[in-house]
Amino acid sequence: MSKSCRACGMPLIEKEDFAGGKEDALFCRHCVNADGSVKSGEEIFEGGVRFFISQLGDDRKLAERITRKNMAGLPYWQGKNCRVLQGEMATDEEFAEVLKKLGA
Ligand SMILES: [Zn+2]
Repeated sequence: MSKSCRACGMPLIEKEDFAGGKEDALFCRHCVNADGSVKSGEEIFEGGVRFFISQLGDDRKLAERITRKNMAGLPYWQGKNCRVLQGEMATDEEFAEVLKKLGA
């Protein structure tokens, strides 16, 4: 069964992808603090933006729209009313295009 991080959607494949290196963790290592607590929406959003810039080139606006689309689609963020997730979002087509580029 393939797993992915509840907060950012990153695929959890290798042991070290998981928070704390524990394969029963629900989050990836990027989304938790050293004490095991899950980072804030703002922090995870910022991490996502930086990731997409590194993959797609230096277009902050696009990276923000893609990150918002990605996170807003995850059940974890439903009802959390996270402010960074409110705003312009990538379309389904743009998002599919990006996933294709990432080889997902
Ligand atoms: Zn994550």
